Amino acid sequence: MPAFQKGMEENLAEIDAIVNNPDAPTFANTLEELERAGKLLTKVQRVFGNLTGSNTNPQLQALQRELSPLLSAHSDKISLNEGLFNRVEAIWQARASLDLSDEQLKLLADRRKRFVRSGALLNAEQKAKITELNSQISELTTAFGQNLLAETNGFELVLDKADLDGLSEGIIAAAAETAAQKMAQAESEEEKAKYKDKYVFTPHRSSMYPFLTESSRRDLREQLYKAYVLRGDNGNATDNKEVAAKIAKLRAERAQLMGYETHAHFQLEERMLKTPDEVYELLMQLWKPALARAKVEVADMQAVVDSEGHDFKIAAWDWWQYSEKVRKAKYDLDESALKPYLSLDNVLNGVFETTNKLWGLTYTELFDIHVYHPDVRVWEVKDKDGSHLGIFLGDYFTRSNKRGGAWMSSFKGQSNLDGKERPVVVNVCNFPAPVGDAPALLSFENVTTLFHEFGHAMHGILTNVTYGSMSGTSGPRDFTEFPAQILEHWASEPAIMKSFATHYQTGEVIPDELIDKLLKAAKFNQGFANTEYLAASLLDMDWHTIKAEEAVKDADAFEAAAMSNIGLIDEIAPRYRTTYFAHIFAGGYAAGYYSYVHSAVLDSDGFEAFKEAGDVFDPALSAKLRTHVYEKGSTEEAMDLYVKFRGRQPEIDALLKVRGLDGAAD
Ligand SMILES: [Zn+2]
Repeated sequence: MPAFQKGMEENLAEIDAIVNNPDAPTFANTLEELERAGKLLTKVQRVFGNLTGSNTNPQLQALQRELSPLLSAHSDKISLNEGLFNRVEAIWQARASLDLSDEQLKLLADRRKRFVRSGALLNAEQKAKITELNSQISELTTAFGQNLLAETNGFELVLDKADLDGLSEGIIAAAAETAAQKMAQAESEEEKAKYKDKYVFTPHRSSMYPFLTESSRRDLREQLYKAYVLRGDNGNATDNKEVAAKIAKLRAERAQLMGYETHAHFQLEERMLKTPDEVYELLMQLWKPALARAKVEVADMQAVVDSEGHDFKIAAWDWWQYSEKVRKAKYDLDESALKPYLSLDNVLNGVFETTNKLWGLTYTELFDIHVYHPDVRVWEVKDKDGSHLGIFLGDYFTRSNKRGGAWMSSFKGQSNLDGKERPVVVNVCNFPAPVGDAPALLSFENVTTLFHEFGHAMHGILTNVTYGSMSGTSGPRDFTEFPAQILEHWASEPAIMKSFATHYQTGEVIPDELIDKLLKAAKFNQGFANTEYLAASLLDMDWHTIKAEEAVKDADAFEAAAMSNIGLIDEIAPRYRTTYFAHIFAGGYAAGYYSYVHSAVLDSDGFEAFKEAGDVFDPALSAKLRTHVYEKGSTEEAMDLYVKFRGRQPEIDALLKVRGLDGAAD
């Protein structure tokens, strides 16, 4: 707290100095000074944000709750500072005569827009209302995230040996390990006894998915699955239904106060897709083929159920188990046969090697850097001429004090304003920790996630811009997934896979036959994957296209109506239901969850360029990708950057083909 207080104090003093500068406003004494302001606060915020995300504890959580309204009030003091806006506006009005570079013009335009979007053109009364709304929203989003963590950690399936039918050795060992950990953390003898000789599964995806896939106990699958989809929807103290509805309502009010129709209109103004209509159109273009495909998948699975002599209808909690059976029957791909080739170290070597071939980067692991948890590893990243590019941290294993999912973040940003400042970037994942003597072994989905997050990390590390606020991943949401997602394509290139996927025990290189099956299987279950994702994206858009006066009373009913409206089938839940949709209610993806698929249009179309060139490391294309995408941050319009790399605007065909939704599948 003292660090935050000092940081905010310093920052406000710096802002005062800019505003009270007796000299007429210039780019240097206003815009550049703004770039320099808030260094201490940013530093503290980055460390704190990273720790509360990946290694939190009750004290940090309490501080987070205390800080969130303070920080939002602090940033309002700057974004609603009239004197500051007037200086920026004066420079903006005079821009034609100022001889500014393109990067400077973009910085000026972005800064001004940020003021306007924060309410700079509003009157005093309206401004006060915005501040109040921001602080309420900020408290609610913090509560949403904390409720969700409590709900995810609040359920456990404690099993006896007799309940483990169907589960493989590794899964059982991990569940025994979870029980042992719980026992070690237990505070009373009575609580310890609860876990003695037991096996624990939780609604964390890394624990739940293996159980749903392998357990032959349909009753237990149903229990665990329902616990997962009902997180935040249990009518208790950590319920998120009202929290979500309130957030949506307050966001709508804020948007309307600023002169936008809805929060989605407000958000999309800064994206590549500019209106809700454009987003709905993109989503529905994919929704129809995805849903049709999902229905075929249900029928395929039902056929297996029937052939086994059961008389139940496939339900949502059967999907993992029966899709795996269909997969084995159709593709004979056994994920557990694949895993021994995919140790974490192998995959890291794979991604390091890939970026070495693309851009000549090299990695040296460092062992003398203080880290926040023993699982964290550190590398120095160097450019092809040996110069320092940045520091990369990898924090890969799941922990109960880490939020779910996977992400990239920074401890330090990049800037060339006052000499070269290079970044410190982190990737955080929730991969299963190693069990016993075996190294950490990944599923192919984990591999894709690792490459994805590493793509974000590259965006953070290769960035090379003058002004820090425009560096790295600072661009629009529906663009910034592109540098992450395009890197995933290299993970499934056979030649690359063979270079890193060697068996951890025998050293044998992954057989061609296994790669073939894997690639075919990658198009399998795409009906499900796309349907659950698109349903969540549409749900996000629905929540953020409501008007303040149409405030939602019952979040469950709202979601049910939204899903029935698009014809979602009972066998699939949206990838995130409202009450655990942290991306949009506790993170920065409001009216932006669609970004992944928009970026997917870009990454499929972009990788197609390498295919057309006949070389996935084509030097000219690699160089363009680096110069126009990874290095540029938000110094130019995202669409312009894409066109400079690709030579034309993006097209959707490559994506439909990649996902087997072009009608050519099977
Ligand atoms: Zn991402």
